[in-house]
Amino acid sequence: MDNSPYNRAWSSIPGRPSFPGPWGNICKVSRAFANYDTDLDLLIKGVLGNGKSIRFWLDLWIGMEPLMARFPNLFKLESAKNYFVADRIASTSYGSTFTFTWNRLPTTQQKTDEYSSMLGLIDTARLSSSGDKWCWDLDQINSFSVKSIKKKLEAQVLFLAWRANLERLPTLASLAKRNIQVPSLLCPFCGLDVETPDHIFVSCSTAQGVWDAISDWCRLPGIYLFGVQNIFRTPEFLHGSSKWKKIIHAILCSTVWILWKTRNNKIFNHKLKL
Ligand SMILES: [Zn+2]
Repeated sequence: MDNSPYNRAWSSIPGRPSFPGPWGNICKVSRAFANYDTDLDLLIKGVLGNGKSIRFWLDLWIGMEPLMARFPNLFKLESAKNYFVADRIASTSYGSTFTFTWNRLPTTQQKTDEYSSMLGLIDTARLSSSGDKWCWDLDQINSFSVKSIKKKLEAQVLFLAWRANLERLPTLASLAKRNIQVPSLLCPFCGLDVETPDHIFVSCSTAQGVWDAISDWCRLPGIYLFGVQNIFRTPEFLHGSSKWKKIIHAILCSTVWILWKTRNNKIFNHKLKL
């Protein structure tokens, strides 16, 4: 049970595990990491430029945690929780000014205390004309924990990854090839093409939506996939430290695992519409 006063429904991921669509899947990936005490959202930090793509309350960009977590009582009063830093801060040569849209003004001692500490914290923030950037702050997790997350997560998906690589996943197309009767060969997500590993994990519009959301969430330049084997090799082509690449690799593996589980649920239990 989460007793923190700020509402966990607000996260940098616009969705929940039970939601249909790609962001619901990303929540599941994120929760898989949370089981190993790693909050991925705290590893991705915004570096302030013009403040137009960093969300003031929801993203981590100043201090050690998102402002919604540091100032939970104040966050409750905010009427526009998704607003960007540029909506809240304006910088001139004399310094920065702040604009808020409260549901109610912060009046209790606790809230006014939070308000003054928040102003103290953001007072140093200056907008510039360049675009915002994102960086991964991996200092707070050591190599050992990266190794153990990777090991635990990959143990779940290794078998699947191996099978997908060898195109031996029991997809509808491969079952039919082995003369096992299936009601339809078509992909259970889109119904437009024969269900092969390359289709469900790469070319299906559902998979593409999930990969786009993953690259958005992890602030990757874009994940371009040409086949299943490509997924697991993606980190080799990205620029970054080996620790970061290991985390990205684990995220990609988890995503494949969750897509496959969602597909199984859809076929066998008619659950989770995508
Ligand atoms: Zn499809």
